[in-house]
Amino acid sequence: MSEAISGDDADLIIRGGRIHTFDESDTTVRALAVRAGLIVGLDAEAERLRARSTIELDGRTAIPGINDAHLHAAWLGARWPHLFFSDTPPDQQPSGRLVSTEVERRSALRAAWRLLAELGVTSYTEPGIGPGEDDGETGCFGSDMLATYVALHGEGAQTSRVTMLRLFGTIDGESTLEDFERGIRTPLPTTDPRWLAITGVKIFADGIPPLATAWVDEPYADGTTGGLLTRGGHDPLSAFHRMLELAASLGLQIAVHATGDRSIMEFVRVLERSNGHPAPPGPHYVVHGDLATLEQIERMRRLGAGFAVQPLIAAHTHSWARAQLGAERLATAWPLAEMLASGVLTTITSDAPIATPDWRRGLDASLDLVAAAGSPDDAGTRRALLRTMTVDAARQDGAPTWKGTLEIGKVADLAILGEDPLEPGRAFSSLDVARTIVDGRTVFARE
Ligand SMILES: [Zn+2]
Repeated sequence: MSEAISGDDADLIIRGGRIHTFDESDTTVRALAVRAGLIVGLDAEAERLRARSTIELDGRTAIPGINDAHLHAAWLGARWPHLFFSDTPPDQQPSGRLVSTEVERRSALRAAWRLLAELGVTSYTEPGIGPGEDDGETGCFGSDMLATYVALHGEGAQTSRVTMLRLFGTIDGESTLEDFERGIRTPLPTTDPRWLAITGVKIFADGIPPLATAWVDEPYADGTTGGLLTRGGHDPLSAFHRMLELAASLGLQIAVHATGDRSIMEFVRVLERSNGHPAPPGPHYVVHGDLATLEQIERMRRLGAGFAVQPLIAAHTHSWARAQLGAERLATAWPLAEMLASGVLTTITSDAPIATPDWRRGLDASLDLVAAAGSPDDAGTRRALLRTMTVDAARQDGAPTWKGTLEIGKVADLAILGEDPLEPGRAFSSLDVARTIVDGRTVFARE
């Protein structure tokens, strides 16, 4: 269809309000034109095109579509509306097998995609699907789910773009070097990387601080230090190193669940000495990073590596963690402000269905975290937070050249909000998501 459209035409023009492009100079424009899913004009250049359809913003604000760089969509869709941190009492939480059949897997993914479209989320990372979970409790993370993803992808059914990491152990649990070595060599399906990019692997290094299972240098209140979840090799540490080295040598992106300073340190050390490997599709990163030290943040920045963090989970677990960490260490935990100030690649993510996939609540928790470190509630702070869920998330995906900002040549993925999210003093959670556009196509409209 696109070849029939001459250079003076556009499929869609969006105009009549503020459009934050989040380009390098944070330009705001008043009009944006789309052709064949791509942005082809801004401001006057957009206005001079003849459009087949027009969306009038009527004073509303458009921003790049939200990219939740750590969200378990299959699990979210299967559990919805139940989240781990929510009003659902423990005895009413879904448990056991959640999906068993192809029909159930498809409906879980479709439910998640509908929900994400309603929230203005246009991209996400599905962090950990693979054979390690083939006998898993929920059915949400096994090879069958990967096959369902690939099938729906082939049918053009997606309304969000997906980056996927493979998993060769259990979710939030142990993995063996043997399974990892076998799994990592299995072939990958061919997909269009703009819709389903299988970029690398997820490795669980440790647990979480409130359970005293994060691997830490300084002992917890009970005298323990946590430890690694990797098995095989000579010991857990050699297994962890070998997994990282193997994935790096194959040119895969590596995301490590690491909350303790000790496990983050081991990841940093291996990355610092892995050179000469093929470039991964996107930068390596730590998921969570609760107890990352300033030195580790700086070393990660120098490596071009990143952190995918969850300020809303921090808010939910803060007092729970106090018993294990003590007040002093708790005060330096979840160093979001320090990460943003350092310039290290940082993405703010939900980890849904652990916390809500509603990014507006995640950003309110983020505002609280950085306010506690002295950052004012102003347009600059708000822009920095929003950039972690758009521009920086696209960097984490290895996709900064084609998504994450509203610039000519990039994909037309947008969220239209009732109010300007950069205006200080307004809770992000009070913003109305009016419309979500993916690839130039409306996938959700409020009215
Ligand atoms: Zn997760």
